[in-house]
Amino acid sequence: MPAKILLQLDPDDQPSVFDSVVAVDAGVDQLFRHGSVEPSQVRDLVYGCIFTRGGEELRNTAIFIGGTQVGPAEELFAQVKKTFFGPMRVSVMFDANGCNTTAAAAVIAASRHCELQGATALVLGGTGPVGQRVARLLASAGSAVRVGSRQLDKSQAVCDRLQKHQPTGKFTPAIAKSQAELDEALAGVSIVIAAGAPGVQLLAAEQRRKHKTLRVAIDLNAVPPLGLEGIEVTDKAKEQHGVFCYGALSIGGTKMKIHRAALKKLFTDNKHVLDAEEIFALGQEFK
Ligand code: NAP
Repeated sequence: MPAKILLQLDPDDQPSVFDSVVAVDAGVDQLFRHGSVEPSQVRDLVYGCIFTRGGEELRNTAIFIGGTQVGPAEELFAQVKKTFFGPMRVSVMFDANGCNTTAAAAVIAASRHCELQGATALVLGGTGPVGQRVARLLASAGSAVRVGSRQLDKSQAVCDRLQKHQPTGKFTPAIAKSQAELDEALAGVSIVIAAGAPGVQLLAAEQRRKHKTLRVAIDLNAVPPLGLEGIEVTDKAKEQHGVFCYGALSIGGTKMKIHRAALKKLFTDNKHVLDAEEIFALGQEFK
């Protein structure tokens, strides 16, 4: 069988070592690692993938778009998809900054304790790349999503973008800065997922415990102070007053499993396009 080749495209100067290690652990034989990739360079890099191996063998070449810069990486992803035509394509996965695999792991954890269809969820730090994907996945599973931010116009802009992408989704902007605003944002919520920047506390334990409709609380920030006070990074479905709590490291464990499973999936066909929704679907085996 031809070697499994993964073309790693990265907008950062140095292509991500993290992404490379996970690829090797997922069974990739050869990694072609490219850093500082500009959208204008993508076409010829993709041609190198699609015009070499033919027919059935195309499934043994795939593309991974990663690194730390989600916006520029999204441009590379768009270019890759634009370059494919007809059967001339290879499978591709997008996971810059771990945004898709992390969001999938968080929403899967929530779904262990709560029916997502019809739930109301609050995503704190919902305007960042991870938070936006958490919001997207929750909405596609049927939850009404409040997108938390310190600024209403920023949250509104994100909601508008998500709504355009997902017309049937229910997205509402929520200011989540002062205690009164947080209380309003949390009213009637059964799921809270904190996707704020590292080292920023978004919600105090005492305030969280006032909200009796909560069933699941998930924090994705592993850097102290943590996003949700009172939840440890290693907590995994730890029950606190009827609320199942998860910390960043336990979500990270599932994230890694999903990342490896998604990479393996790439080499089963030459047509997979793995973005947030497809990665979430793949992650169901780890529910
Ligand atoms: P990010 O873009 O750095 O930040 C997310 C949001 O946090 C921002 O859009 C901002 O929202 C808010 N924020 C920033 N600084 C703040 C401050 N000083 N006070 C209050 N809010 C602030 O985060 P990300 O890249 O989406 O990642 C989200 C979290 O997931 C991070 O903590 C990251 O470390 C974590 N992560 C975890 C894993 C894992 O495996 N567990 C993997 C990847 C990422 P507003 O400006 O709208 O308020």
